[in-house]
Amino acid sequence: MSLPDYYQWDDEKKTLNFLGRDAVMLWKEPTLSCMQLPVIKQLGESFYFLLIAYEASEGSDENYNYIISRKNCSFEEGFELFANVVSAAGWGTMTMAKINWELKQTTVEIENPWELSKRETKNIGDNLPMICGKASGIFSRAMDCNMRAVVTNIQTRENRKYATIQIAHTNSTLKSELEALNKREGHTPYERVQILNKELQEAKEELENANLLLTEQTIKDDLTGAYNRRYFMSQASQHQSYQSRYKTPVSVMMLDIDHFKKINDTHGHRAGDISLIEFSNVCRQNLRNTDIFCRLGGEEFAISLPGLDIAHAMQTAEKIRQLIEQLTIEYSNTDIAFTVSIGVVEMEHQETLESALSRADKALYLAKNSGRNKVVSS
Ligand code: GH3
Ligand code: MG
Ligand code: MG
Repeated sequence: MSLPDYYQWDDEKKTLNFLGRDAVMLWKEPTLSCMQLPVIKQLGESFYFLLIAYEASEGSDENYNYIISRKNCSFEEGFELFANVVSAAGWGTMTMAKINWELKQTTVEIENPWELSKRETKNIGDNLPMICGKASGIFSRAMDCNMRAVVTNIQTRENRKYATIQIAHTNSTLKSELEALNKREGHTPYERVQILNKELQEAKEELENANLLLTEQTIKDDLTGAYNRRYFMSQASQHQSYQSRYKTPVSVMMLDIDHFKKINDTHGHRAGDISLIEFSNVCRQNLRNTDIFCRLGGEEFAISLPGLDIAHAMQTAEKIRQLIEQLTIEYSNTDIAFTVSIGVVEMEHQETLESALSRADKALYLAKNSGRNKVVSS
């Protein structure tokens, strides 16, 4: 049986090359798992590929864990078990010829990779790197370093072909490897895949961040970072349904800054904006994680407070009122101060959110009419 076309034996170096390359890179970092699949899909094009050790078998760490759990005193014993897994999975018959823990080197022999490749892969070229990877991936993990697997020999014994793979420690990192790749000109197909993968990973991260931002933008007010009315309505409705289901109290309050127009008129629109931001910060700092603080529009805000009955909601409202009264904002060498009026209600059994908000609004109206800077309940 002759070697598949992809392989050339380098007589001088006594190594087997695959498409001009002489090694398989293996990585211990599990985070690279997402890079594995596209690369493996392209395996036919190259000898290099990334594989994480514990995924030595079909993307699961079961075999690895099994072997390591059985290892205890001897890795050789563990390897033997792994070799059995390899045989049982039909990847070939694997034996370990040598292992040197100090140098982080080992030699593995795999019999019949060619037969397997014909049976299980579209492309004969896929097979040897796959076997190399599966065999040596486990060493990467066990020896806690990145390993480079090199096929050093192909022998025929009793009509069976054996591939000898030497697995040795490498100091390369993904980053250094990619930097080197990027510097090189005239990339091989695999190198292109590798670069593409890295770029894809970066694009994925960017996309995730953009999505996060977009989600924030769709539920929050740009200026104050308070939730918007739509989000408030959906969350507060949930609070209301918890209330009816679990018989826990829920309170709602509406807040409106007093004479806010005057701040704009006296100090300018920007001063008004800053006041809205500072007001929101004070409110948020005095609420619980489960409370939903929202800007209904302009200088009007609402808060849904699950778990709080009217007495406790009044206490919270009063605290906010006092803190706002004490707040001074320095702007353009002048101090800005303002107050807030608050209407508070506890939701009644089976009351709709709209009805509770309308009651809170009426209480707020009463607060305004009775001189402002007040908390009124209804
Ligand atoms: P009241 O005590 O009765 O609530 O009086 P007020 O002046 O606070 O209420 P009014 O509704 O008359 O005025 C609200 C002002 O808020 C008018 C509007 O220009 C201003 N405003 C609304 N949104 C913003 C904003 O995003 N930034 C700034 N700076 N001002 C805003
Ligand atoms: Mg106002
Ligand atoms: Mg208003």
